[in-house]
This record gives sequence, C-alpha cells and structure tokens, in this order.
Amino acid sequence: MPFRALGLDVNILKAVTDAGYTEPTPIQTAAIPLILAGHDLIGIAQTGTGKTAAFTLPILGKLAGMIGAGQKRGIRVLVVAPTRELVAQIEENVRAYGRHLPLRMATVFGGVGEHPQIAALRANVDIVVATPGRLLDLMGRRFGDFSGVQFLVLDEADRMLDMGFLPSIRRIVKALPVKRQTLLFSASLSREIEQVTREFQQSPKVVQIGRRANPAETVTQFVYEVQKHLKSSLLVHLLNDPKFNMVLVFVRMKHAADKVARYLEHKEIKTATIHSNRSQAQRLRALKDFKSGAVRVLVATDIAARGIDVDGISHVVNFDFPMHSEDYVHRIGRTGRAHAVGDAISFVTPADHGALRALERFIGRGIVRKRAEGFDYGVAIQAGSEEDEQKHRPGQQRHFQAHHSTKPKQGESAQGRHKGQVGHRFQSRWRR
Ligand code: AMP
Repeated sequence: MPFRALGLDVNILKAVTDAGYTEPTPIQTAAIPLILAGHDLIGIAQTGTGKTAAFTLPILGKLAGMIGAGQKRGIRVLVVAPTRELVAQIEENVRAYGRHLPLRMATVFGGVGEHPQIAALRANVDIVVATPGRLLDLMGRRFGDFSGVQFLVLDEADRMLDMGFLPSIRRIVKALPVKRQTLLFSASLSREIEQVTREFQQSPKVVQIGRRANPAETVTQFVYEVQKHLKSSLLVHLLNDPKFNMVLVFVRMKHAADKVARYLEHKEIKTATIHSNRSQAQRLRALKDFKSGAVRVLVATDIAARGIDVDGISHVVNFDFPMHSEDYVHRIGRTGRAHAVGDAISFVTPADHGALRALERFIGRGIVRKRAEGFDYGVAIQAGSEEDEQKHRPGQQRHFQAHHSTKPKQGESAQGRHKGQVGHRFQSRWRR
C-alpha cells in the first residue's frame, strides 16, 4: 500500500518521500488511519518497526490542519518518553517529518540547564517532547501552558513503568485536558500497561505488530561460549574482522562500560561509551561520533541505550549476558533496523547458562552456539589487560570446553546470513 492511501497531509507525504520511504511499515499502515480518525490507540510494537513515524506523521498532519484553520497557537502535542536519548530521537523524527510545516517544538529533559527549556516553553511552541522528571518539575513551577494539549503520546510506556515514572506521569496527565487523544506505545501488553491504558485512555484501539518479545527477524543471533576472563580478548579478536564496522557493545554496569572502552582504546580501537554517569553533552557526543563513523565501537548499558536509533549498526555484542530476557530483545533490536540486516552476538560464561536457557524459552527458539575461528581459548593473561583482575583457571576451562558443542543446531546454521536470503527475511518481517 502506498503512503498516499493513508490519508496523510500533502506536506507530510513530501517529507516521507524526502526520507526515502517507499511504503509504510505494518504498524504505520494499521495505526495511521486510526489516529487520523481520532481514536485513542495502544500500539504494541518494538523499536525498529517504524513506530515513531506511526504516531508522528498523523499527529503533525492533524496539527497542520488545525493551524491552517486559524486555531490559536500553543502547546497542542505532548510526547513523553523514558530517556533523553529517546527524546532526542523523537525530536529528530518530528523535525524530519515536519520540515515542510511551520511548526515549533521544545524538548525537555534532565541533566542539562533548564533555562533554555523554560525559554522554549514560553515561546509558544506547538509540540513538547519530554522525559517525565524534568517535565513535571517545570509544569509544577507553571512553565508552559498545557491546558490546550490535544494529543498525548506515551512512548515506550513499559520502560517508563519499569523506571518508576508512573506517579510522575499521573501528575502530568492530571494537568492536561480530559478531552484529548492519547496514544500509548509499548513493546508488550502487560497487566500494568492495561491498567495504565484504563486510567489514561478512552476506548482505545489496539494495534499489535509481531509476536510478543520476538526479536527482529532480520537479526542473526549467535552465542559464543567463553570464560569470563577471556571476554575482552575475544571482543578484540572479533573486532579484527572488518565486517564489524559499527558495533554496539552491551555491558551490565557503568564501570564495566568504562573498563571495556579503556581496554579497546588500549588496543587502538576507537571507542565511545554511553551510560548514566556521563553528562548529556558527553552522551550526545558519543552518539554523534558513533553515527559519523569517527568511532567504530559504542559501549552502552541497557538503560542508556534505550532510544538509540542509529542506522547501519553491523553487530550488537552482548559482552555481558542481559539480566532480563526483555533486555536481550531490546538490545538486539538495535541492529537489523528497518533496512539493515545485522548480527547479534552474546558472550556466555558458565554462570550465564541458566539465563541463556530462560532466554531461549522466552524467544521460543534456540540460539546457535559458535566458536571464534582462530581465537586462542587457552590464551595466557596479558599484562596490562583488564583480565589481570580475573584468576586464570585452566582446569575449569578445559572442563567447560569439553561439555559444550559449538556446532550450529539443526536448521539454524549460519547460512541465513547469506545475501540471497536478505530480501526474503526483510519481506517476511514486514508481512507479519
Ligand atoms: P522506529 O521504530 O520509530 O525507531 O524506527 C526505526 C527506523 O525505521 C528509523 O530509522 C526510521 O527512520 C525507519 N523508518 C520508519 N518508517 C519507515 C518506512 N516506512 N520505510 C522505511 N524506513 C522507515
């Protein structure tokens, strides 16, 4: 179906063509007509499905119509999202899709000075994109007039609940007009999300794309079994392959992010980090350098990586196995985005085996075990490496190697990576 069949404003269609999109994604095909018709909406879709455009395109089109009809200006659209990075991504989307429209926007998030945000709120903007904490703070001090809001979007609502933002969101929503259109997006439909929709929405329509928590099908997934003290060397070994040209590395803890980055820099691999101890300016810089190719590797923690929308990530490496299966799905969703095909690699230590089995149950399939060709699994600890702190226990390692097959499971060989299958994999993802 072409975009023009969806009933979007002509200026929006122009921006969509500028963006190079040829046809809407399934969430866009399903959600856009419902939003244009004025329904509240629950969108169950993962990042990477085109969900941002699914709400931005119709809202901007409706807003353009209202302004064209001579309505008084003021904040009409409020988008609330869990992290600053996601706010920045939504801002980028709004700017791209609204480029042919005379709309004004402000972004509001913590970690930076509030004065420019206050000035922006006072400047009679049409759209505010915000994280809950700073937004509530500024609303509480009566900055910005939210009494005319007609569209409320709660993006990545599941993550906002996980992060404990529900009380803040309740207070924000209380300050908005009851008569409004509310759109809520979440990766899954949990009991908590259902409760929230009952609270904030009226007779919402539900649009669900893909099975719950099913990792993007364009991503080829592998597990590398490795002893903990060899993880950094294995990462460097993999990075010696030039196919690893834009690599997002996930770790569990902030200090691990710095440690891995230091190790890679020591091996002369250009690396940036993104985690919650870094300032907003540092994070934006890291993302910019990663996007531009100035650094090849970005090391991130789970929360900081929410909302990272970078096209062309070649590989996601789970340096630390994720604590929760949901995090795995979010992590690997960073590669294999709308147009790309990507590999997701997880390092699994003996201590991670229980979590790996739980993950395989969660996603409903086994993950191929692989062995890094040419990597010396018996490698001695190198002086100056981060592994100095780990005790090398060769006996345990032999035992470990003897017990785990590294051959791909039947039907899950690495053949899926061959180019000939890319078109098919891409298609089947959109057809769902
Ligand atoms: P999102 O799920 O909103 O994070 O979007 C994922 C990626 O898909 C972004 O890089 C968008 O630019 C891209 N995208 C959104 N809609 C389309 C479309 N209709 N065709 C191709 N790419 C799209």
